[in-house]
Amino acid sequence: MPKHGVVIHWFRKDLRLCDNPSLWAASREALQVLPVYVLSHWRGQHDWTGPKRQHFLCQSLASLRGNLQSIGSDLLLRCGDAVEELVKVAVQAKAAAIYFNRDGDPYGRACEERLKQRCATLGIACFDFKDRWMHDPSEVLTGSGGPYRVYTPYSRNWLALEKDRPLGKVKSLGPAPTCESLPLPELSHWGLKLEGSEQMPEGGERAARKRLDALLSSELLCGYGAKRDLPAEPGTSRLGQDLRFGLLGIRELYGRCVEFAQAGGSAAVRASVHTYLKELAWREFYAAVLWYYPQVFELEFNAEFRGMEWPGSVEDFQRWCQGRTGFPIVDAGIAELRRTGFMHNRVRMIVAMFLTKDLHCDWRWGESFFMQHLLDGENASNNGGWQWSAGTGADAAPYFRIQNPWSQTKRFDPQGLYIKRWLPELAKVPAAEFLQPPASGRPLVPGYPLPMVDHATERNRTLALFAKHRQQGR
Ligand SMILES: Cc1cc2nc3c(=O)[nH]c(=O)nc-3n(C[C@H](O)[C@H](O)[C@H](O)COP(=O)(O)OP(=O)(O)OC[C@H]3O[C@@H](n4cnc5c(N)ncnc54)[C@H](O)[C@@H]3O)c2cc1C
Repeated sequence: MPKHGVVIHWFRKDLRLCDNPSLWAASREALQVLPVYVLSHWRGQHDWTGPKRQHFLCQSLASLRGNLQSIGSDLLLRCGDAVEELVKVAVQAKAAAIYFNRDGDPYGRACEERLKQRCATLGIACFDFKDRWMHDPSEVLTGSGGPYRVYTPYSRNWLALEKDRPLGKVKSLGPAPTCESLPLPELSHWGLKLEGSEQMPEGGERAARKRLDALLSSELLCGYGAKRDLPAEPGTSRLGQDLRFGLLGIRELYGRCVEFAQAGGSAAVRASVHTYLKELAWREFYAAVLWYYPQVFELEFNAEFRGMEWPGSVEDFQRWCQGRTGFPIVDAGIAELRRTGFMHNRVRMIVAMFLTKDLHCDWRWGESFFMQHLLDGENASNNGGWQWSAGTGADAAPYFRIQNPWSQTKRFDPQGLYIKRWLPELAKVPAAEFLQPPASGRPLVPGYPLPMVDHATERNRTLALFAKHRQQGR
């Protein structure tokens, strides 16, 4: 017999019916579950998000509403401060409890705390669940009980821990809610619009499940270990946005990959899947870093580099944002990002290192620009990736190991296929010309810029800036 009459499930970064711990528990413990999503009320330009990710959110909410209706329920949409809106619905519907999956970032955690305090004064229970990660940050600790600062021992521990099994799909949430709901949002809700030429994956749980099936039914996962660093190849899973919005449960993704490895038989397939699972561990490592060191939003993780001078100019930053640096691999990466909301991981590293080490711009500028464009924009992983590239982060690339964009192109896009895909104006340029600055001193094609800096000169300047800062710190 369910222990509650009416409860709320607060949808956040878990926009799905399958493998959803809070929704699953609510559906078993109450006669009626009210599914609520609270839209944010900011308008216009936002430093941490942008139209592409909000568009994907709109599609995912529409899909969620359809999925809820198909099991006889519906999605209640509200807008404003999440705590106030949830409490209003709870009071109006006489809900006994609010169920939700925990969020990891500082804003989400602060909101959960406020909600719990407010509900305690009103006699409404709150139940929170682990969902976004296989392991909560507190489950993966060093021998002395502290958080890891380095990825490799973290990942060893993470991989060895027993994993939760996926939950099924929720089949019923009781009668549909009768409370008032806003209509499904469109981009205009936030005063945003798309440029119109974007090529983006579809939002929603069903589309995400198709992408998961594609990963598991194709050669993709078998070849992941070998191809994941080649941006011209379809070599990675492209599930980042689905994990970001919780369109897929991490237990299901993990469990199906392990089954795939077991069924695949060969050592090579198992090794490739293992490489993939280690990437999922990177995601959780950065989540744990943000959990235990929330100051990384403002400050360098490595205290040695706090207060560093980043003398890059706004003009140079803007050229980088426009993809007009004259370094084809960098400009192709920015073009891919602006058009699709995605940038290949290898190229993210090249582009981020170029901004911080060749243009000497503050990594926080790039971090915010990525959050405005990435569909998978996730505070913890993005901050981790930027601090890694700047040389200031947890287990970061040491500041003196500075990637050369020309030799990175030679290693990872030797035929220029990725560059030509995203910069069609360079389609007829021989690939060899992408591997060094133009020998002729003339642009690769009329209208395409010359490299805006000399890599060797800027590399030395970076080394001098870091050396000066370290000396001042002594
Ligand atoms: C500067 C920079 C910024 C980044 N910003 C983000 C971000 O905002 N959100 C984000 O999810 N990832 C970020 N990454 C990590 C990585 O680039 C993306 O996760 C990956 O490209 C997503 O594509 P995929 O799903 O095909 O990845 P796959 O290679 O198929 O990996 C599977 C999943 O593992 C996780 N993952 C893989 N690599 C990493 C990594 N290095 N760090 C953390 N998680 C990882 C992601 O959830 C990814 O979807 C960033 C990396 C850099 C260098």
